[in-house]
Amino acid sequence: MLVDDHGRTATDLRVSLTDRCNLRCSYCMPPEGLDWLPKPELLTDEEVVRLVRIGVTELGITEVRFTGGEPLLRRGLPGLVAAAAALRPRPEISLTTNGIGLDRLAAPLAAAGLDRVNVSLDTLDPATFRRLAHRDRLADVLRGLAAAHAAGLAPVKVNAVLMRGINDHEAVPLLRYCLDHGYRLRFIEQMPLDAQHGWDRAGMITADEILDRLGAAFALVPADGERGSAPAESFTVDGGPERVGVIGSVTRPFCGACDRVRLTADGQIRNCLFATEESDLRGALRAGASDAELAERWRTAVRRKRAGHGIDDPGFLQPVRPMSAIGG
Ligand code: SAM
Ligand code: SF4
Repeated sequence: MLVDDHGRTATDLRVSLTDRCNLRCSYCMPPEGLDWLPKPELLTDEEVVRLVRIGVTELGITEVRFTGGEPLLRRGLPGLVAAAAALRPRPEISLTTNGIGLDRLAAPLAAAGLDRVNVSLDTLDPATFRRLAHRDRLADVLRGLAAAHAAGLAPVKVNAVLMRGINDHEAVPLLRYCLDHGYRLRFIEQMPLDAQHGWDRAGMITADEILDRLGAAFALVPADGERGSAPAESFTVDGGPERVGVIGSVTRPFCGACDRVRLTADGQIRNCLFATEESDLRGALRAGASDAELAERWRTAVRRKRAGHGIDDPGFLQPVRPMSAIGG
């Protein structure tokens, strides 16, 4: 098992498959993009499968989520999903994506064993999409969402980040759209993980503000007594059964119940989104380490996980890697 010094057990593995992306969401990447990881540094499909197998069969991982960068840009994705689905005990397999290309890939991915999908959608207005993501791709995202729904990747979850003065007037329309289409919407507070270091607390739309805005149009009632390790606080909408989630990563942190561990596209274990240290599995793997040795390195990396993200600490330092290279 992957247990840390604060008594938490990591069972949820986030695997970043690439740091590249076909969008440039301003809370994540600068418009000009970033220097991508050189290909030789990326784990091959075989290396990803080996590490996922070790996680699931030796270390108690029960959920595998593929992410990035944009994971649909990785050609081997259906094969990676199929390999994860063949493991025993079979993990839950999910994907976080911007949805571009999902119109083509949703059905093959479902057939390969994908269970669930989270699609990021921050606006319903093409001009705002262009301003926020620096690409004209809103129609592709909406088509991708519809295809995920049609492929039975249920419940299709939608992630939205609100930015002040850009899309923060869209909380209500986004929820209406998701309710009408049978998608489950979750708002995520913007975190200091953008490559440009443009985040500031005053600019951030907080969970309280999101709930105020939604509360003006919908009757929201807390849905779960216990939030558990789920980051989203869930609310029934207008009596339910529909729900909306709010992930207050900054103002309502859930670090005490965190069950996540991350593997970057270049084979580093990160025990936290905000970790400032990583543990190199790629180097060990390529130097001939056995499964047992890799598992032990991984255990050690998780053991040192800090109690919390510390965004409010005076000495907080944003991690060097931006979100797109960590795997959200
Ligand atoms: N490209 C895929 C996507 O956008 O869904 C997967 C990777 S993306 C980094 C994963 C999630 O992180 C997305 O839902 C995105 O909105 C979110 N995200 C990125 N930067 C963020 C930030 N600074 N604060 C909060 N969420 C962020
Ligand atoms: Fe790309 Fe996702 Fe980052 Fe947007 S949030 S730039 S879609 S990796």
